[in-house]
Amino acid sequence: AKEAGRARMTLYDPSMDADREQRNALELDLRMAIESGDLTLAYQPLIDAASYAPTGVEALVRWNRPGHGPISPEVFIPIAETSGLIESLGLFVLRKACETAKQWPELNVSVNVSPGQFRNPAFADYVRYVLKQTEVEAGRITLEITEGYMIQNPQRTRQSIERLKALGVKVALDDFGSGFSSIGYLRQFGFDRIKIDRSLVMGVNEDKRQREMLQATVALARSLDIPVTAEGIETEEQAIAMRLFGCDCLQGYLFGKPMTADLITEMLHARHAA
Ligand code: C2E
Ligand code: CA
Ligand code: CA
Ligand code: CA
Repeated sequence: AKEAGRARMTLYDPSMDADREQRNALELDLRMAIESGDLTLAYQPLIDAASYAPTGVEALVRWNRPGHGPISPEVFIPIAETSGLIESLGLFVLRKACETAKQWPELNVSVNVSPGQFRNPAFADYVRYVLKQTEVEAGRITLEITEGYMIQNPQRTRQSIERLKALGVKVALDDFGSGFSSIGYLRQFGFDRIKIDRSLVMGVNEDKRQREMLQATVALARSLDIPVTAEGIETEEQAIAMRLFGCDCLQGYLFGKPMTADLITEMLHARHAA
C-alpha cells in the first residue's frame, strides 16, 4: 500500500495543474482587487434583544470578481491568508469600516480580524494608526476574532487583546461553540462579547438535545459575565429562544441581511421618522 501511495504521488495528474492554475488566477485577481480598491463592505444590523432596536453593524467584505461574479469571503479570505494578502486586505477593511462608522454616531461597528492579522505583533499599532487617521471613537469599534486562533495561541492572544483594549477598542470572540471551547481560561482574555456560532443557533428548534446544547453554551458564556450575541437568526422562534437563554444581542437574516452603507443609513432614518 505504501508503494502504491508513493507511485500515485509521482503520477502526472493534469487536474492538479488546472486547480493550481485556477488558484493562481484567483490570487492574482484578488491582489489586483485589493490594490485598486475593488473590494467593498456590506453591513449587517446587530439588534438589541429587548427592544429590537439596531445597536450596531458587522462589516463583511465583498468581492465581485470580474468575469466571475461575487466570490464568498469563505473562499477568498483563506487564500488571502496563505498568499500574504491578508494584511493589506485587513487594513482596507478596517480603514473603510472606521471611515463609514462616522456616518452612524449611534452605532457600534464590528470588524472581523483574521488570524494572519492578529498574529502580527504590530497589529495593535496599525489599529491605533487607523483610529487616529479616521478620527473615529475607539469605543465604537469591536474587533471580532475567532475561537480557533485563540485556542492555538492563548499566550499571544492574551497579549494582543491587552494592547487592543488599551487603545479603547472592544474585542469579541467570534464563532463560539463551533469548535473546542476552553472555557477554563476564557475569562482571563477579557473579551467584551461572545458570539454564538450560527451552526448552533440553527439547531435551536431541531431537537431537544441540540436545544440543550445551545442553552448550555450560552449559559457557559454568561457564567463569565460577558454579554452574548446570537448570530444567524432566521426565524422568530430562534429569536425568542435566544433571548430567553440570555442573549442581549441578535443578528441574522430575520432582522436584515448584509447591505450597503446607504441602506443602513436609510434604515436609521426610517426608524427616526417612525
Ligand atoms: P462570520 O464572521 O461568522 O460572519 C457571519 C456570516 O454569516 C456572514 O457571511 C453573514 O452574511 C452570514 N449570516 C448572517 N446572518 C445569517 C443568517 O441569518 N443566515 C445565514 N445563512 N447566514 C447568515 P459572509 O459575509 O459570507 O462571511 C463569511 C465569513 O467570512 C465570516 O463569518 C468571516 O469569518 C469571514 N469574513 C467576512 N468578512 C470578513 C472580513 O472583512 N475580514 C475577515 N478577516 N473575515 C471576513
Ligand atoms: Ca464575525
Ligand atoms: Ca461568526
Ligand atoms: Ca462564521
